[in-house]
Amino acid sequence: MVSKGSAAYSILKSKCPRCNEGDYFIGKNPYSSLGLKMHERCSHCDLKYDMEPGFYLGAMYISYLMGVALTLPIVFICFLLFDVELYVLLVLGLVILIAMMPISYRLSRIIWINFFVHYTPT
Ligand SMILES: [Zn+2]
Repeated sequence: MVSKGSAAYSILKSKCPRCNEGDYFIGKNPYSSLGLKMHERCSHCDLKYDMEPGFYLGAMYISYLMGVALTLPIVFICFLLFDVELYVLLVLGLVILIAMMPISYRLSRIIWINFFVHYTPT
């Protein structure tokens, strides 16, 4: 699979981008309340995850792109395969977006921090 020491490892395992050891989120399950809470600092290398106020605003762009990349193909395929009304497709897209929101939230934040912090073995 993905080896330790890469951004992909950090993103897929929700680990600290600098050391790939400490957990990024308190909970493992994105659909639990603890799954959406981040640790303040890495337990292994002491990297401060919330580097400055508003740091994660850029993660919204990542979240938006993931939502479009996931929803549009599914809605388009349903449009081609099934004879359904437009509002049904809109509701389907909305349901997909809402259902994927916790996963999108976690992924967008960890992808965003990986743009700025790179793996540094200690
Ligand atoms: Zn760390």
